[in-house]
Amino acid sequence: MSRFFSDKLRKLVPYTPGEQPKNMEYIKLNTNESPFAPSPKAIEYAEREIELCRLYSDPECTDLVNVACEYFGVEKDEILFTNGSDEILNFAFMAFCDGDHPAYFPDITYGFYTVFADLNNVPYTEIPLKDDFSIDISDYEGLCGVIFIANPNAPTGLALSLSDIESVVRANPNSVVVIDEAYVDFGAESAVPLIKKYDNLLVTQTFSKSRSLAGARLGFGIGCKELICDLNTIKYSTNPYNVNRVTMAAGKGSLEDREYTEENCQRIIATRERTKNKLKELGFEMTDTFANFIFAKHPLICGEELYLKLKEKGILVRHFSKEKLDEYNRITVGTDEQMDALVKALEDILGETK
Ligand code: PMP
Repeated sequence: MSRFFSDKLRKLVPYTPGEQPKNMEYIKLNTNESPFAPSPKAIEYAEREIELCRLYSDPECTDLVNVACEYFGVEKDEILFTNGSDEILNFAFMAFCDGDHPAYFPDITYGFYTVFADLNNVPYTEIPLKDDFSIDISDYEGLCGVIFIANPNAPTGLALSLSDIESVVRANPNSVVVIDEAYVDFGAESAVPLIKKYDNLLVTQTFSKSRSLAGARLGFGIGCKELICDLNTIKYSTNPYNVNRVTMAAGKGSLEDREYTEENCQRIIATRERTKNKLKELGFEMTDTFANFIFAKHPLICGEELYLKLKEKGILVRHFSKEKLDEYNRITVGTDEQMDALVKALEDILGETK
């Protein structure tokens, strides 16, 4: 730390991203990326766009917004694209939270929420999950602040039903409720249709998981036009060109290729269920995940040891040292071949442990 670092940020503990090894020596099941290439249309549009990169990107993302409006059934002023969904989440903290409007989120959820809160000097309350990691929606009634719920939740993969989400939105008419749907395409129900009914609901999604564009950095928020207007004020006060041209073009191509995304999601879901069955046979305990990852623990080996042994065998998964999570590993669902290699490695490790 330099002697110039602002006093207000000295205690900030930044988010730790999952390992991103520089070569492909690992089977990479640690950061919930898609194992499949982006849609051919996304690649084609992106390649064409590179030539135009001497020009700034369109701050209104017009072409992408037009396609997205049709795709999600919303109006142009109800959607805002950002540099990954992390950016729109940060915008939401900046726009809606302050000393009088603290943030509320589960004690086990996406680790970036606490960082965004601290970065923006926002007080927050972490609401404990139930012992089975589920959210008790009665804990989210009549709160005065801003509620952040990842649905499905991370790293558990558990999902709330749309009616439960609606209950939370309805029970907090004077609070913004942010539903982070980074993993929604792998089997949960999206709350996007509810934005027409509630002016306090913001839904965020990403192109990083189901659309195979993690490295392009594209996310978005959908909400009533007043909420989106506020978020635009933040965007135009920080970085109006937050989505670059190539990413915008790739995003448009990806949305135009809906079938490609839907097929890939079906493949991931099938592989997830197949892998879960195999892990169950090996004695693993798992949550009922609706995401593109499995959250698993084994009675015979601790979470960190398993993570390290898998790494030795060339397989990267994500281990969190936080209390209540440390027995588990979060394993991204890859291709069938990758998951077969995982199962084989686990068999070997458990064989050595006995
Ligand atoms: N929300 C959740 C729950 C996540 O797990 C992630 C991915 N780390 C994000 C949001 C952000 O993803 P991105 O910025 O790539 O859109």
